[in-house]
Amino acid sequence: MDQVLELKNIHYAYHNLDGETPAINGISFILNKGEFVAIVGPSGCGKSTLLSIIAGLLIPEKGFIKINGKYLHESTTNVGYMLQHDELFEWRTIYNNVILGLEIQHMLTARTREKAHNLLDIYGLKQFENARPSELSGGMRQRAALIRTLVLDPDLLLLDEPFSALDYQTRLNVGDDIGQIIRQEGKSAVLVTHDLSEAISLADRIIVLSGRPANIRQTVPLIFDLEQDTPLNRRNSPEFKHYFNLIWKELNTDD
Ligand code: ADP
Ligand code: MG
Repeated sequence: MDQVLELKNIHYAYHNLDGETPAINGISFILNKGEFVAIVGPSGCGKSTLLSIIAGLLIPEKGFIKINGKYLHESTTNVGYMLQHDELFEWRTIYNNVILGLEIQHMLTARTREKAHNLLDIYGLKQFENARPSELSGGMRQRAALIRTLVLDPDLLLLDEPFSALDYQTRLNVGDDIGQIIRQEGKSAVLVTHDLSEAISLADRIIVLSGRPANIRQTVPLIFDLEQDTPLNRRNSPEFKHYFNLIWKELNTDD
């Protein structure tokens, strides 16, 4: 199978005047093409740090990262990064927010504009193209933020707790909704979350991290016997409870 992402023995520590805060302690894993991996771990364990390293925003002190077989610093692969807050600009319309990344990367052409319109149409935002972000619900804004990422056609999506600013009910719907969109578009994704239910309902595999400095405690492949493998069907299946209990125990066991 094609490997989109490879992490090998990644170490990272923050350095400041008070000394050193080790955050990542020897993490290795592989993500195959089209695979959706969720990383769960206690708050403050190093999840966002790990995603920042994969995104190339922080340089690991040890270890290496390869994307599509090339070292990160040599890679030309498009990586999409989606954060907790949708970061849409109120002074731009939804359409103009969606094409912002294309503008910045000098990729705005007739073809990419059409793609932006198409994605907005497919994912139910066509009538909001000329609206301002404040006119949309939190869930719709999050969808617009995802479309802005998808329109750049990233080979790899990095999602850092993208639903955690939403209230519980919205969060369930939007999480499931966005998970489905990512699957439909056939993207490879790494989702970081502290919400175990979210991880189990969306991912192919869960990586469980220890407390800080983070290392991998366990990797759990998720296998569901469902006619239609949707997040909602997963949540109602017997396997869901099994995985929840298994990983919950792992998260709450001291080393
Ligand atoms: P998570 O996303 O799992 O909640 P983070 O990756 O944000 O955790 O942070 C991991 C640890 O590193 C935390 O203890 C945090 O306080 C520390 N940390 C994060 N950013 C910095 C920074 N810029 N300087 C120093 N320490 C930091
Ligand atoms: Mg975080």
